[in-house]
Amino acid sequence: MKKVVVLGAGYAGLKVVHELQKRANGQVEITLVDKNNYHYEATALHEVAAGTLPPSKISYPVADIIKPAVTTFIQDEVTGFDLDDKTVSLKNHDALSYDYLVIALGFVSETFGVEGAEEYALPMANLEQAEAIHTHILKMMDEYKKTQDPDYLKLIVCGAGFTGIELAGVLADGRKEYADRAGVNPSQIKIEVVEASTRLLPMFSEKLANYGVNVVKGLGVELVTGARIQKVEPDKITYTMGKDEEETTGTTTGKTIIWTTGVSGSPIVQADEALKARRGRSIPTDHLTVEGHDDAYIIGDVAAVMPPEGGRPYPTTAQIALGMGKYVAEDLANRIKNGSQLAKPFVYKSLGTVASVGNTRAFGEAMGHEYRGYVASALKKMIANESLYRVGGAGQVLRNGRFDLYH
Ligand SMILES: Cc1cc2nc3c(=O)[nH]c(=O)nc-3n(C[C@H](O)[C@H](O)[C@H](O)COP(=O)(O)OP(=O)(O)OC[C@H]3O[C@@H](n4cnc5c(N)ncnc54)[C@H](O)[C@@H]3O)c2cc1C
Repeated sequence: MKKVVVLGAGYAGLKVVHELQKRANGQVEITLVDKNNYHYEATALHEVAAGTLPPSKISYPVADIIKPAVTTFIQDEVTGFDLDDKTVSLKNHDALSYDYLVIALGFVSETFGVEGAEEYALPMANLEQAEAIHTHILKMMDEYKKTQDPDYLKLIVCGAGFTGIELAGVLADGRKEYADRAGVNPSQIKIEVVEASTRLLPMFSEKLANYGVNVVKGLGVELVTGARIQKVEPDKITYTMGKDEEETTGTTTGKTIIWTTGVSGSPIVQADEALKARRGRSIPTDHLTVEGHDDAYIIGDVAAVMPPEGGRPYPTTAQIALGMGKYVAEDLANRIKNGSQLAKPFVYKSLGTVASVGNTRAFGEAMGHEYRGYVASALKKMIANESLYRVGGAGQVLRNGRFDLYH
């Protein structure tokens, strides 16, 4: 029996468990560790933050995936690992030893050292944080009723990357709920997105990105671009625009400030010198193992996988995390059964990227074609159901899948 320890029940870790249970039954003991006893679809966190989906629609118990005869689940926080001693330390349990380790600890919000961002802006990097944002928005609407201060009706999103744009779209969908709560007209709910770059959504062609930006603007979202955030204070952000003598300083105020300027990999990965990580991401070998430790795999958002042609690592996405999880399960099953790693290295081929702007609007590219509007939105939802299927199988799609597509 080989002992495999998997850290993190996100897309990457849960995919390894799901596949390995099928492939190496009887030859492996799997231990899965996560601080939560549920898996959440991180790709839909913005919908929980806006309140357009309840947390129960984007999460399900880890117990639904594991086969107790093969896998033991430990709910605890990983505090570190020793790749030489082959042990993992946990906050509330004894250390675990392993034959093979899979590090899949995912992402956290990245503030890039902006003063006050950690203290005064709301991060959106896990289910608890997303729920906290929705609760906060509703509380601010209640405060408006008492004070009539319009800053309570203002939602500021810091960062107009993929996540910031998707969030702005669902916040626009949520306007009616917020306005009803505050007792105002939905048009009084102001949504402002502040972004340093002037060329938004660089993952798309300029034409498609402009389309997306115009959809967002059409929803009454104000986009402040070319604005480099310098400081966050309670209910206020300060930014600079322009260069050299032309540089100007601007401010905006509002009682809800949400931070979506980017993410980095787990701080546990960053802290381990053996992983030589930058922003919590480590470059794995072409078999997704840690350089110099071929019994430890590193996958998902904590891995910076380089494309064969070099350049910049692939963007970290659920799609590549699932691909890595499947590859690692195959590689592990081969090692356990045949004593050797797979001959073929990990290869990634993107199926495409689709950004949603609220429930019914989206845009993106897939399989060499660009899509817009309703078709793109349906495609996005099908990809989400597909990823539910790929992690959890048909049962999860039946339970959590969006067959209504337009909830
Ligand atoms: C709003 C939003 C929209 C997105 N949209 C898309 C999209 O459309 N398409 C796409 O492909 N990708 C999208 N992404 C990116 C995608 O969500 C991530 O790339 C993906 O979640 C990474 O998967 P993962 O398994 O590596 O990590 P995660 O999903 O972050 O899972 C990590 C797991 O590790 C656990 N964990 C972390 N630290 C510890 C610890 N110390 N101890 C124990 N457990 C721990 C966490 O609880 C979690 O369960 C989106 C992300 C966001 C935020």
